[in-house]
Amino acid sequence: MEQWKIYQKKHVDTGAGLERICSVLQNKDSNYKTDLFAKTIEDLENFSNTKYQDFEVPYNVICDHIRMLSFAIADGVIPSNDGRGYVVRRVLRRGSKFAMNLEIKEPILFKLVDSVVSTMSSHYPELKEKQKYIEQTILSEEQSFLRTLENGVVQFEKIVGSTSGSQINGKDAFKLYDTFGFPLDLTQLMAEEREMTVDVDGFDIEMKKQKELAKTGQKFEMDNVDLKWNLETNSSHSIFVGYENESISSKIINHADREDGLIIVLENTPFYSESGGQIGDTGIIMNNDFSAKVNDTQKNGDYILHICKLTKGSIGNNLSVDCIVDSDRRNSIMVNHTATHLLHQSLKDVLGSHVNQAGSLVHPEYLRFDITHPNKISSTELDDIELIVNQKIGEDITVKTSIKSLEEAKKEGATALFGEKYGDKVRVVTIGEYSKELCGGTHVSSTGKVSKFKIKHDKAISSGIRRIHAITSNHVDLYLKEKLDEIGLLKEAEQKKEEEKQSQSILLNSVDIDSIIKYPIMDFDGIELLFSKVELGVASDLKILSKKIKNKTDSAIIFLFTEIDKKITISVAITDDLIAKSFHAGELVKFLASELKGRGGGKEDFGMAGIPYIHPEEINLVAWQLVKRFLEKKHEDSFK
Ligand SMILES: [Zn+2]
Repeated sequence: MEQWKIYQKKHVDTGAGLERICSVLQNKDSNYKTDLFAKTIEDLENFSNTKYQDFEVPYNVICDHIRMLSFAIADGVIPSNDGRGYVVRRVLRRGSKFAMNLEIKEPILFKLVDSVVSTMSSHYPELKEKQKYIEQTILSEEQSFLRTLENGVVQFEKIVGSTSGSQINGKDAFKLYDTFGFPLDLTQLMAEEREMTVDVDGFDIEMKKQKELAKTGQKFEMDNVDLKWNLETNSSHSIFVGYENESISSKIINHADREDGLIIVLENTPFYSESGGQIGDTGIIMNNDFSAKVNDTQKNGDYILHICKLTKGSIGNNLSVDCIVDSDRRNSIMVNHTATHLLHQSLKDVLGSHVNQAGSLVHPEYLRFDITHPNKISSTELDDIELIVNQKIGEDITVKTSIKSLEEAKKEGATALFGEKYGDKVRVVTIGEYSKELCGGTHVSSTGKVSKFKIKHDKAISSGIRRIHAITSNHVDLYLKEKLDEIGLLKEAEQKKEEEKQSQSILLNSVDIDSIIKYPIMDFDGIELLFSKVELGVASDLKILSKKIKNKTDSAIIFLFTEIDKKITISVAITDDLIAKSFHAGELVKFLASELKGRGGGKEDFGMAGIPYIHPEEINLVAWQLVKRFLEKKHEDSFK
């Protein structure tokens, strides 16, 4: 095996790059002392209240990393857990860790973006254009890392505590990576600070294990299927002719059996195979003796695979057939694909040029669009996006397609997907002056055919990526009708509640308070007992009613009861002067409830209890006897 020499200064580009040449020209002994980093260093000194000469290493790392991050993020890379995104995440976390060496415990890297922009943007104007976006992306990643770190450091300490030698084992390092988001080099860095090392081989083994595990869980893919073809030849291939035609005559050139059906390959086909987010066509392949229902269309190399269910006859090669695409479904797909392009451009218009397509699904019933955007999309922004798309629909702009060289298309400013591979010749879909995209999909002839557009919702699906669900044409009507019905039902329920409330308050207001006050049924040692059965809609109104009575009387114990649905509720309220003489409504109610085999209680001024059903006439008698007993007892107690 070849042995690689490890450089001592790992963060420094070893070639004669811009920095090296610059340091020679400016006669400086380090890249970081050139004017390329001067502004960043100055800003960092100000933000951290430290001096460069005291912390050369952390300063150099931070300067280097913030520049890399600014460029990568401007280029459309988002911090994530795989691929380029993971490189960016690691660099950011490493920078963040070094900032901690300067005793900075809050996000700081994002503040340094400005220094990179002001130094570099004269030659890289896109940095200035995307500055806000870069800052927000770095800030939210820094915030989440600081949270991660808090938990992770505790875990790291535990691991160090339970490690006997001077090496942290691979399993533990992997756990820190997998569960707490610690990149390996961060663990190494922290280990180094303790004069420890990390078992990198052991870490790699764990990583490999996890990748194997992830693989087995992967979605079944057409390319991986080992199909037993009827003809073992690759000389033939399918030609897609479905842009112009939705039904043609063609020939079966190969077929294969599959457990759940049949796969047919045609010489020419009008069926669009799933690609670029647009879902595959369905329909029928048939002649007088043979018929197969096409459930899906997928691509496999030069073959377009029609995934079918045989419904009549038997299949053979060279069979001449009629191929008919389900044209209603295709039309809905075309409508949604054109709407997707309009949405893409309006997102850029409203949210900014940093918005990149991160995924797309064009389905007959809806469209789904993923974008890179670090923040929540506000409802005003959503309204604006929707409005623009609907305006473009209203303008009924002609949709044109043309085949061009990639170079020509890019020169014209066509939107190409980042990371997507294109051949020499590309298909460009143009919607007037508004949108120009490289796209192989099928589209309606003009935007008016989309008719209506509505965003159903948007949500974050991972850090920095949002998913938008939208619908078009008659699906919008259906959706709005559903919403209206929902609102209608809600209104109905509210109305019912309101009516109930009203009838309750009518009952409450019709209680004759004056006559209750006029005829106290007991006068015990100067204490008046007001006693009444009342008609109420809800038992809780006893409290309101008691309050009303209290407002009209100076001194009384107010005993009320009501019967609702064969349930009796009693209440006791006491005026303030009696509370001052240490009478307690809750106590009295509790006493009554326990004597009447019910449950209840309350505070000093008011209490309530539910009791088993007794005929109201009886309560009159029983209750006032009980109140009397209670008062007598209280009276005796006070003389003890
Ligand atoms: Zn497209």
